[in-house]
Amino acid sequence: MAKVNEYDAVIVGGGIAGSTTGKFIAEHDHKVLIVEEHREVGKPLQCAGLVTPRIFDFMPENGCVLNRVRGAKVYSPSGKELVIDAKKTKAVVIDRVGFDRSCMAMAVRAGCELSLGAKALAAKYDGNTVSVKIMKGNKIFSMNTKLLIGADGVQSRVGRWFNLKRPPLLISGFGAELSGVNIDPRFVEIYLGNDVAPNFFSWAIPKSPNTVDGVVPARVGLACDSSTHCAFQYYHQLFSHPILGPKLIRSKPIQYIAGAIPLGPVPKSYTNNVMLVGDAAGQVKPTSGGGVYTSILCAKHCAKVADHALQIKDHSAKCLKEYHKAWMNDIGVELKHGLRLHKVYMHLKDNQLEDGFNLLSEKSILSLISTHGDIDFPSKLTTVLFKKVPALLKFARPYLRSFF
Ligand SMILES: Cc1cc2nc3c(=O)[nH]c(=O)nc-3n(C[C@H](O)[C@H](O)[C@H](O)COP(=O)(O)OP(=O)(O)OC[C@H]3O[C@@H](n4cnc5c(N)ncnc54)[C@H](O)[C@@H]3O)c2cc1C
Repeated sequence: MAKVNEYDAVIVGGGIAGSTTGKFIAEHDHKVLIVEEHREVGKPLQCAGLVTPRIFDFMPENGCVLNRVRGAKVYSPSGKELVIDAKKTKAVVIDRVGFDRSCMAMAVRAGCELSLGAKALAAKYDGNTVSVKIMKGNKIFSMNTKLLIGADGVQSRVGRWFNLKRPPLLISGFGAELSGVNIDPRFVEIYLGNDVAPNFFSWAIPKSPNTVDGVVPARVGLACDSSTHCAFQYYHQLFSHPILGPKLIRSKPIQYIAGAIPLGPVPKSYTNNVMLVGDAAGQVKPTSGGGVYTSILCAKHCAKVADHALQIKDHSAKCLKEYHKAWMNDIGVELKHGLRLHKVYMHLKDNQLEDGFNLLSEKSILSLISTHGDIDFPSKLTTVLFKKVPALLKFARPYLRSFF
């Protein structure tokens, strides 16, 4: 029987990675504590909430779907439009705060203890277990755990305490939930260009299927390869963008959304008694910045290995390495591929983006994109596209050369 201050697993971070890992471990009857420094789950909001319905393979919808989108309207730097219409649901827009809370409620129901307003200050491996120092209010507690799981986001302190490397790249995101935006609620809009969102893209995501007086609530924002301060400035420039700007005239901000997004998997997500999951491990798709699906997927792998380690009483790096292998086998290749694509994209000038647009604007190519496009697995589409439009390879050449 575990003592009061002893846990099988302590999870630092009550975001989507922490709650789902906690739920999956607790379902195997282990004693799990989740510590979250904020007093509320899901806040502050750091997500545009666009995901594929695949996330519901792991966690139930629980009324969190706000809208379903069937494709994207993509705008080049000069304003050319490509409409990718799958004519069926390709992605869903979720109430991200609601979804996080519903996942945490399930973790608690599965038996996790949740401590809100509790910040992990330090952790130390003592050769057998890990001792963790936690501050709650003005009190500091110490506890022992067999496994420490860092689900503590992009700036992972757990990773730092145990000398695990950070994800290779970081971009900044800034946006807002706006009251009334003049866009088609069936499509996400994507805006490209080095003056719009350097090295990434900006988005307008309709939050509801219903327009009222021609407008719809939407999440509008961007991510760029720059500081949050710059992302904030680029966000304000969206209001004078020649195409997006007029669509925002009647909008008012309801809440702001800001945060950093890690790109690329960490080289090692485990050490003795410790595993990293979610943003902390770079489990984010570098082509879209989406991390909800990948975090939940990897949480499943993390929990499976945690359960095995706890059952056989082996919490060593050698045993936990299976977690790293499992998620890398499952999604690692896709994430590495995504990082390569991102690096190709980073090197493109606006005139090259226009060239790319022209190559893709043919009807048969657009239909190919609609059929094979999948924001969780973009490599499927790129393989097909490079075969069908070999001229696209010229953009990848400078990067491919760096391999040799
Ligand atoms: C602007 C923006 C838009 C995005 N849009 C999308 C999108 O549309 N679709 C999508 O799939 N993904 C999107 N993402 C990415 C997605 O939000 C993240 O990948 C995902 O939320 C990561 O979850 P996580 O649990 O790993 O980390 P986080 O959500 O960052 O959770 C980490 C938690 O750990 C807590 N914590 C940290 N340190 C400590 C400590 N020492 N003690 C206690 N608690 C601690 C933090 O308070 C936090 O709650 C977006 C990200 C940004 C920034």
